Amino acid sequence: MPDSLLTRFLRYVQIDTQSDEDSPTTPSTAAQWDLLRLLEAELREMGAAEVRLTPHGYVMATLPATREASKRRLPTLAFLAHVDTAPAFSGHGVKPLVHRRWNGKPIRLPDDPAQVLDPAQSPELKLAKGKDLITASGRTLLGADDKAGVAILMTLADYLLRHPKIKHGPIRLCFNPDEEIGRGMDKLNLAELGANVAYTLDGETPGEVVWETFSADGALVTIEGVSTHPGQAKKHGMVNALLLAGRLLAALPREGLSPETTEKREGFIHPYQLTGGADRAEIRFILRDFELAGLADKGKRLRGLCQGLQAAEPRARIQCRIRKQYRNMGYWLKKDMTPVDLACAAVRAVGLEPSSPPTRGGTDGSRLTERGLPTPNLFNGAQNLHGPLEWVAVQDMELALKMCVELVQLWAQRGAGYRGYRPKVR
Ligand SMILES: [Zn+2]
Repeated sequence: MPDSLLTRFLRYVQIDTQSDEDSPTTPSTAAQWDLLRLLEAELREMGAAEVRLTPHGYVMATLPATREASKRRLPTLAFLAHVDTAPAFSGHGVKPLVHRRWNGKPIRLPDDPAQVLDPAQSPELKLAKGKDLITASGRTLLGADDKAGVAILMTLADYLLRHPKIKHGPIRLCFNPDEEIGRGMDKLNLAELGANVAYTLDGETPGEVVWETFSADGALVTIEGVSTHPGQAKKHGMVNALLLAGRLLAALPREGLSPETTEKREGFIHPYQLTGGADRAEIRFILRDFELAGLADKGKRLRGLCQGLQAAEPRARIQCRIRKQYRNMGYWLKKDMTPVDLACAAVRAVGLEPSSPPTRGGTDGSRLTERGLPTPNLFNGAQNLHGPLEWVAVQDMELALKMCVELVQLWAQRGAGYRGYRPKVR
């Protein structure tokens, strides 16, 4: 009896795989190995080829091209999902609850009754009436981001291996650590992955085929003041770094340039961490925009504010360092929309209308696409991510699974001759 998508999902979410931004290792937490090793063993057991767990915690495997398809030159397709869950909320001791044929009434989570999933406040949830909903129990997140993706891809592998009549080209699977801390692709060897085109299963609402993300920079502003005894501060010329930091933050344009006041295609400047004391302070920012010109403009504004502050207080030393984080995948995907078009066709084939909302964030695919491997992001059904009210419907995960089955066949029918990324021979 093959494992169902639901039993796989319930098994995976109960394994704590929270990642940790402050850890220097890859994977960032030892706990992620538990799930990675389990996936490795399950892939071997189901008969996948070339199963390997790398020293940095990437599980890779191959589903060889079916007999007829192997005679044609079809591109190698990769599917990716990340095993870690967000550090933002506890992922320890997740108790998944299945609400079968959910009746549409608000769901109060038993371990923290203050947590209520209310359809009146969520159009997506309202649409899920009658479906089998899975939630956590109140004290943890669920981890459907991205264990829904993991469960969908593991079920896809099992299904394709059991149904050799479904024609497809060579498929690579990759389960990676540390997406939530922005390091998911750091140690992935594209030659080893060996794919010409890829998809992440890390989107949300059914029908989503995301091919545009933010372009992103980080900024670090350091303010060095002049430290003296406070009793003689006037005489010795104290310059308080904290007060200067406060002035800089107060000078940030708020309307139309902060996360709180922007949406859709608007970018922002967001201070997210302030540390230090009277002698020295550091402020960390993220800068976001869909367009590179807009991103550069935000960097310029921040530098300008720092320069203004420096001019007003020449005794301080103020530095603004900006470093690149990731870029909008749309810049590359627009040049050849085949991966997006086929994904949209697969969405239609399962009876959904495709939508492509630009993602106000980044995905592992942002990094891969920039490195040359086109990687749009597909839905996995997960909703309300990174908190106790996260949920997913079994039927939505099943739609994602069916979409993948359609997608591999569409590539077999129409993909011959597609070039995409050319991995170096391993
Ligand atoms: Zn995710």
